[in-house]
This record gives sequence, structure tokens and C-alpha cells, in this order.
Amino acid sequence: MGWDIMSTDTYPCECGKGTYTEVREMDDWNRIRVHRTINCPICKLKAEEIENKLIEERKRLDTLAREIKSYFKENYIEQWFAYFSAAKSKKAVWEYSRDLRVNKGSLSTFYNRKYTSMEEYISELATFDNMKNIMEALDIHDNNLTRKVEEAMELYQKEHSRAIAEWHRKH
Ligand SMILES: [Zn+2]
Repeated sequence: MGWDIMSTDTYPCECGKGTYTEVREMDDWNRIRVHRTINCPICKLKAEEIENKLIEERKRLDTLAREIKSYFKENYIEQWFAYFSAAKSKKAVWEYSRDLRVNKGSLSTFYNRKYTSMEEYISELATFDNMKNIMEALDIHDNNLTRKVEEAMELYQKEHSRAIAEWHRKH
């Protein structure tokens, strides 16, 4: 199983001083992939800069995600556990998290994951993309946390819209 070249086309580049080449390939499953080679040094450098910026942003998002998690754990985890204290069964814990829109899986996924404790599950919910809902539920007003969450969400949404644009480009 391999990829066959279907077409090779050269177009004027973005700055207009050079070109880029697009090679379209198809495999046995009719999947198409496109390779783009920038032949213009100016545009090539620009593309590399964009790529580096993406890598930096991704790194920054990873760092923020970790920082948010540990900061929350240090300062608010007891409060977060207390939020679930009235939930007397596993199912009730899941329902609480669903009502708060902080869980992403179904009830059966939840049952299939073997959590050593409900506290483990509850801790895992405290991710940067759930943090706004959690902060609202716990009535947390913390500028340090808010700042980090906002920056993380901005990077996250940027990455998300880029993934969608990329998908449209390929299909
Ligand atoms: Zn160019």
C-alpha cells in the first residue's frame, strides 16, 4: 500500500516574488494528502516563523495547563471535593459533574474507567478547560487563576480553530 502522485502544481507564492509547489497524492483507500513546498526564501522563512510560533504556543499551553492544575490542587481541592459531598453514589458524582458540564465522557465510560477513588475522578475534572465552570460553581474569585485560565483558553481556542481550518483545507 502506497501513495501515488496525482498532480504537481506550482503557484505564485504569497509575497508574489516566488512560487510554491503542491504535490497531491492518493492512496489505495482514496485518501488524499497534499505536500506543499515553498520555493520562495521570503515565504519559506515566514512559514518557519509561523511554525515556530505554533510550537511556542503549544508549549505555553502545556505549561499553563500544568500550572493551573497544581495551583488549583494547592488552593481549592478541598473546596472542590466538598462540592461533591452530598453525592452519595458514584452515579451521583457523575451527575454532578455532568450538570456542571465539566465531564466529557458518558456514564458507561465513567464506569469503565477504574478510578481508585471518587476523589481521583473529581481531581481529574479540574482541567484548564473546565476551570471557568468550576470557578463559577465554587464562587472562586482569584485573579491569578483567572489570568492563567484566560490565557490558556485563548491558546486552546486558537489551536482548535486552526485544526478546523486545516481539516477544511484537506477535504
Ligand atoms: Zn514569496
